[in-house]
Amino acid sequence: MSKKINKLKENEQFNEIRLILGDQLNASHSWYREKREDVLYVIAELHQEQHYVTHHIQKIQAFFAAMSMFGDALKSAGHNVLYLDLDDTAEFDDLPALLSYLLKHFNARQFTYQQPDEYRLSEQLKAFSQSIDCSTDCVDTEHFYLRHDELNKYFKADTGHRLESFYRKLRQRFDILMNGDEPSGGKWNYDKSNRNKLKKDDLKEVVAPLLFSNNVSEINERLKRHNIKTIGNGTDELLWPVTRKQAKELLSFFCDHCLCLFGEFQDAMTSEISDKKWSLYHSRISFALNAKILSPAFVVDQAIKAFEENPSKISIEQIEGFVRQILGWREFVRGIYWLNMPKYKEKNHLEADRDLPEYFWTGDTKMNCLKQAISQSLDYAYAHHIQRLMVTGNFMLLTGIHPDQVDEWYLGIYIDAIEWVELPNTRGMSQFADGGIVGSKAYAASGNYIQKMSDYCSSCHYKVKLKAEDNACPLNSLYWHFMNKHKEKFGNNPRTTMVYRNWEKQSDTERQKVLEKAEKILEDLSIL
Ligand code: FAD
Ligand code: SF4
Repeated sequence: MSKKINKLKENEQFNEIRLILGDQLNASHSWYREKREDVLYVIAELHQEQHYVTHHIQKIQAFFAAMSMFGDALKSAGHNVLYLDLDDTAEFDDLPALLSYLLKHFNARQFTYQQPDEYRLSEQLKAFSQSIDCSTDCVDTEHFYLRHDELNKYFKADTGHRLESFYRKLRQRFDILMNGDEPSGGKWNYDKSNRNKLKKDDLKEVVAPLLFSNNVSEINERLKRHNIKTIGNGTDELLWPVTRKQAKELLSFFCDHCLCLFGEFQDAMTSEISDKKWSLYHSRISFALNAKILSPAFVVDQAIKAFEENPSKISIEQIEGFVRQILGWREFVRGIYWLNMPKYKEKNHLEADRDLPEYFWTGDTKMNCLKQAISQSLDYAYAHHIQRLMVTGNFMLLTGIHPDQVDEWYLGIYIDAIEWVELPNTRGMSQFADGGIVGSKAYAASGNYIQKMSDYCSSCHYKVKLKAEDNACPLNSLYWHFMNKHKEKFGNNPRTTMVYRNWEKQSDTERQKVLEKAEKILEDLSIL
């Protein structure tokens, strides 16, 4: 028994135990409106959560630091809190075993938890609740725009959904960027005016990201003591925000310095990722949002306030682009996840079956685009959306990596990776493994796209203009091979008919050369 578990006072009693999971750090939850002497809040660093996938070290540091700070804040506000670290929970096989012990020890008659966002945990707690001899309740997390119990009004299982109509409904329902019944500025979507490449002069303007230096040395010691395997690089100082104060500071920094060019350079990528520029104009608030330190409504309101106060600096194109990500994509993927689990996790529409090459864990590849995106992910537990979708994701799609391995990589490496948001982005948007539930076509691209949106190609070992030569950009032949292989699935899609027309226009010999080149790469991905 750990010291803390041993020290729990024998005769201490609480009528109710309320569980707070690591991603439920919502200080505005109605639970905390009144101080209840008979309620004990339990926050626990769980061994079971360290093993279902190998996590980036910064991800574990961030969750543990944020949980512990949240526990301290609750205590200061006068609530009864039991914080159990990895030492304290080591002797319990899993979460139900720990909860059973605590309920018995404190003689509690009521167990209450917030609806987990992960299917796995939701099922585990549901089963636990049914197995115990006290009353139980599961309440909403009060974090998202949509309550958990109304997702089925917007989503159906096994049905293709499109972001645009969902997003418009939410804009209307919550009256966000609306002018009466019309969208502010007259358009729902400003995608076309956004998404430019960063030129050399633009790069000079990019501001250094706001970083924090949270001391996580004790967490590191615990991880070592318990042999927790991790990936990526981490030190005793964590640069991610772990308190509400830090998260709000980061959001203000974004509104003051990045929002004005957020949409414009949302898809741009650069090798100039010195310490100063690695996150460009992105907000980096995904961890704070997903741990529920900040609510999406708060983030959107603050950004809109900045837009309204600075109309000459922040245009409608930029604010709409940002709101679309949070009110649109984030709520959208959550609905897709819940209405389709658990089957969604098994989907493999394109029957992909290759293994992920070793360089995904080291960044040691001659393909500069992959090297940049992977190395940055290992260093910071972060890559922006287009690096995830169009660099690593595109490579995995074109080479047919098994979706289980795709999920494992994404779920482990990113600071913000929690299954409800990761899975629809990987299996759905990126890998088309769901057969079109999230998007109407696969996000497949040749080297041309990377060249258009980044400066990666100019310093790459491979030549982006070549297709079948020894030093040709591998993405070119892989792209045509992929499109050719899946012609039956994509040939009738109006969004890809032009692609197939261009393919047919090439001579038989030319096509053969390209397909042979791709076959050679696919035989052994480690050569790249
Ligand atoms: P910004 O670019 O500043 O965007 C603002 C916010 O919008 C983000 O913080 C995020 O909350 C939200 N957002 C933007 N795009 C999406 C999206 N497609 N889905 C959901 N929310 C979105 N996001 C995660 O939070 N967790 C994941 O595990 C995750 N895995 C991904 C895997 C793949 C293959 C892809 C293509 C995308 C994934 N995303 C994931 C979405 C997106 O890449 C990240 O949310 C974003 O890069 C986080 O960085 P940021 O906070 O700087 O975002
Ligand atoms: Fe990537 Fe090809 Fe460009 Fe190299 S040439 S950076 S492999 S797209």
